[in-house]
This record gives sequence, C-alpha cells and structure tokens, in this order.
Amino acid sequence: TYSRLLVLCTLSLSGGGLVAYSESQSEPGSPASEHGEKEREKKRVVLLGTGWAGISFLKDLDVSSYDVQVVSPQNYFAFTPLLPSVTCGTVEARSIAEPVRNIIKKRNAEIQFWEAEAIKIDAAKNEVFCKSNIDKETRDFSLEYDYLIIAVGAQVNTFGTPGVLENCHFLKELEDAQKIRRTVTDCFEKAVLPGLSEEERKRNLHFVIVGGGPTGVEFAAELHDYIQEDLINLYPTVKDLVRITLIQSGDHILNSFDERISSFAEKKFQRDGIEVLTECRVVNVSDKEITMKIKSTGAVCSIPHGLVLWSTGVGTRPTIKDFMEQIGQGKRRVLATNEWLRVKECENVYALGDCATIDQRKVMEDISTIFAAADKDNSGTLTVEEFQDVIDDILIRYPQVELYLKNKHLNDVTDLLKDPQGNPRREVDIEGFKLALSHVDTQMKSLPATAQVAAQQGAYLARNFNRRQQCKEHPEGPRRFRGLGRHHFRPFRYKHFGQFAPLGGEQAAAELPGDWVSMGHSTQWLWYSVYASKQVSWRTRVLVVSDWTRRFIFGRDSSRI
Ligand code: FAD
Repeated sequence: TYSRLLVLCTLSLSGGGLVAYSESQSEPGSPASEHGEKEREKKRVVLLGTGWAGISFLKDLDVSSYDVQVVSPQNYFAFTPLLPSVTCGTVEARSIAEPVRNIIKKRNAEIQFWEAEAIKIDAAKNEVFCKSNIDKETRDFSLEYDYLIIAVGAQVNTFGTPGVLENCHFLKELEDAQKIRRTVTDCFEKAVLPGLSEEERKRNLHFVIVGGGPTGVEFAAELHDYIQEDLINLYPTVKDLVRITLIQSGDHILNSFDERISSFAEKKFQRDGIEVLTECRVVNVSDKEITMKIKSTGAVCSIPHGLVLWSTGVGTRPTIKDFMEQIGQGKRRVLATNEWLRVKECENVYALGDCATIDQRKVMEDISTIFAAADKDNSGTLTVEEFQDVIDDILIRYPQVELYLKNKHLNDVTDLLKDPQGNPRREVDIEGFKLALSHVDTQMKSLPATAQVAAQQGAYLARNFNRRQQCKEHPEGPRRFRGLGRHHFRPFRYKHFGQFAPLGGEQAAAELPGDWVSMGHSTQWLWYSVYASKQVSWRTRVLVVSDWTRRFIFGRDSSRI
C-alpha cells in the first residue's frame, strides 16, 4: 500500500461558513419520523457515506446538538490503505473493518444509521432518496435534511476502455480484495490441472496490473511476496511459469512520489523480476488477452493474462453526477466546493473526500479583489503595513499560496519590499506583487484523493458545525477577507504528513514532511508502526497486528474460501 501517512493529528484551523437553516420536517412514516418530536427540534444533518471523510466527521461532530442520520450501503468502515494486504491474505478482511454501529455506540448518542444507498439528491426540496441494498423488496425511503454532508467517495474509472468492466478486477472495496484473493488461488489451481498446454499454464499464471500508482505498485509487491514466500512452495511444478507485469501510461511508476522513490521502486521491481512497461496505454481487455499501444512507436500488441487488476484512477458516482446536473455543475468532472467545503450554489450542502474538489480557479480573481479593497485611494500602491495585512488575508484564504511562495517566489516577494539599492521601501507596488503571483493560478494543484485529505476534511467540517452556536452569538465574526464578505471560520487547510509506498520484501519507501525521503527495511518498520497506530479501534489494531504476526510465523493461507 502506498499508504499515505494517515490523518495524523488534528486538522487545520476550524472553519466553514455555515448558513441559515430551515426547520426540519420529517416525512410521516419515514425512518426519521420514528425518531421522536424532541429530536426534530434539532437541525437534521444527513451524512452520506461511512468512509474516511464520513467517519471522521461523525467521530468529531458534537452529536448532542444535531439530529444525525447516516446513510451508507456499507455498514462498516474499511481501512483502505491495507486493502492490498487483504488481496494476498497478509491481513484478513475483517481485521480492517470496523462496524459503523460500534463507532456510533462509542459516541453515546442517538445517531440513526440506515444501510442503504443514496440514489437521488433533491437539492430544491432538501431531500435525499435512498434504496436499501439488503432486501430489494424493502421500499425506498427519503430523508429530509437541514444540512447534507456528501462523503460518498469515488468509483473506479475505466476511461471507457472496452472490456475493462467485464474482464478486470478492481481494488476499491473489501469485497474486491477478497475476490482477488480467491482468483489468485484459482489461477494457480487451474495452472496445475492435468491436460493443459504449457501456454495455457503460463497464461493462467500471468498477473497483469494496469496503473503504476501507489495501489498498483503495492499490489504488485504484495503479490510478488505471496508467490515467492508461499505459493511456489505449494505449487512447485509451475513455479518457473509465473509472471507479474505492471503497465503504466506515464514514463515512471509512482510519479506522484519523489523521483528517488520512483527510481528505487523501479530498480527493486527489476531485481524481483516484476516487469514494468512504461509509456503503454491499454486499449482493450478480453477474457484472455490485454491489448496495449506503445506510445513511442504507435505499435499495438497483446499479451495473455490470468488476472488483470485495473487501478488507474477514480471517477464520479452516478448519484453525484445527477446532483451536479441539477445544480449547474453538469460540465464539471468533479463536484466543486468552496474552501469551506460548501457545495457551490448550495446553501446547506457540503461535500468532502474523494467525491469533491475545492474549486481554486478563481484564486487570482479573489486576490485582485482583496488588493482592490485595500487600495482605497486607487494609487496602485500599499504601505508596507497594509501590504503585510493583505498578505495575511491571502494566506488565510489560500494557504497553498504560502507553499508556492516558499518553494518558488519568496525572493521575488521580498525583493518587492526593497528598492533597487536594497533599502526597505515604504510603499509596495500592487502590480509587481500580482506579477510575482501570476503563476499561482496554473500551478496550484487540487488536493490528492487520499484518506489523509478526506479525514482532515471530515474533522474540519465537524469542528465548524460544533462552533455554530458560538457563531450565532457573535454573528459579526472575526475580521477576515476584506472585500470578500465576512466568514465565521477559516477555510480548510490541508496538512500533508507524508506518504508511504511498501515495495515488498520487507522494504518500503516514505516521503516525509520537510522533503525527507527514507527507503529500505527500517522504513518498513516505520510503516508497520504508523499503520498499527492509525487503526480506528483497539479491536482492529489487535487484529491487524496479530495477522502480521501469524503471517511471519505460519505464512499466508491459500485456501479458496
Ligand atoms: P470512501 O472512503 O471511499 O468512502 C465512501 C463511503 O460512501 C463508503 O462508505 C461507501 O459505502 C459510501 N457510499 C458510496 N456510495 C454511496 C451512496 N450512493 N450513498 C451513500 N453512501 C455511499 N489514501 C491514503 O491516504 N493512504 C493510503 O495508503 C491509501 N491507500 C489506498 C489503497 C487502496 C487500495 C485504495 C482503493 C485507496 C487508498 N487510499 C489511500 C485512498 C483513500 O482510501 C481514499 O482517498 C479515501 O477512502 C477517500 O475517503 P472518502 O470518505 O471520500 O471515500
């Protein structure tokens, strides 16, 4: 698991422009109406999804102040960074799943949970339509909300490649990991059946991974370990026929990591015999073959496979696409929120985690507005004190600018504060500063789709909700964001705590804050400690650690259950 160091500690500054609400009205006969008059006096918060973002929100929300209703088709939280370990039985599926009802029980408050899928959001009526996925006969139901929190994550993205949905495995859910585990065993059992040609045995034992990102790389490493440490001892007759191939469309694997880590991983895979094909784009997948185009030559070639894992990125869920159409975001790829995580054009809907993105397109426009408001006499200059005030405002609103300035343009900005002789100026030229920032717009990237971001967003939003009462008492709020209106809270600020890439053979690579990179066996021990400590409960922590110990002592279990 390229596991990113999860959600260490708490989030960034509290924040989020909460808005006026309507009185909650439960539909008679709906699950919510059974909840009693007393609860209805509280504002109803409907939370969709019990993944990283949803659970983090639920854990930090002051649940006594709201009527909280949770809807999710999974009645558990899954620790996704360990999903690749489940595919090979290094860790058991149940060890990384925590029942939502356990989490709710610990909150010691009345929170309603419905195991169902949200199939439609009616933004105009403040209503969500849900469908139970346990019993198809059960009638659909709807929930009205005062606030809606969308945390439904993303779905796999096939980029419309023919045959992918029918013939590939995915690795998003626990069920996917369990299915892969069974298929790997099947491939070996099929390969040793009598009467097969050598070609057929080889095909069954060719494992192909499409996507050289963290998930693909971690799965390749896990599978390699599983085969070398366990399976070749159990299936010695076919041990020389096994192949693992990783196909990547870019020029390097792990290209979201530091270059040193990418090249360490590529060299390690080469030593391990994992074939890495870069600059190749998969164009078709059939039940027996995978066809790809080599970018440099344009040549098309096919290779036989026994199992393909498709791990190339994520897309938007249909319910969210439909919602985006309703609110005028139909042309966008991902649901857009402002920096307070409120869905654009919706007063009382928030979206967090993989299903949403913070819209940063207007950064420069907003920065201009802040300057214009500060430059009261339209002189095009500000005093140094005014300038510093403005910078503070910009950095509160756009913390990314700080990073950008630190990395690239800090010198340009400090130069603005001096005249050509190096003496401090009394006034600063606004246009000069804007010029120094002119690349910010294009270079600030959206946040990565990781558990780390999702969990920080969940906790941030919960804090804002918890402070709603306080804000009602002080409606004027603190002085912030000249020219942009007042906000009660600071915008969401992401803190990156680094990321891991386990590479198999008890070795891992880690990118740590402060541009630190660490690779090798000791990093694997750091990975074990971080992932044990990040478990959501003591129960799963004990289970995961005992699974690792069991694997050290007895190896992995290859039964096809
Ligand atoms: P999810 O965690 O996916 O949760 C979505 C929730 O919404 C689920 O409970 C789902 O059941 C529910 N839902 C879905 N549809 C509906 C609906 N219609 N109505 C109601 N509920 C719905 N990130 C890291 O930081 N570090 C890692 O090491 C790491 N490793 C990963 C390994 C793998 C194999 C994968 C797949 C991902 C990994 N990630 C990692 C990414 C991380 O898991 C995601 O970024 C994170 O799960 C996003 O959180 P989320 O809450 O937005 O979505």
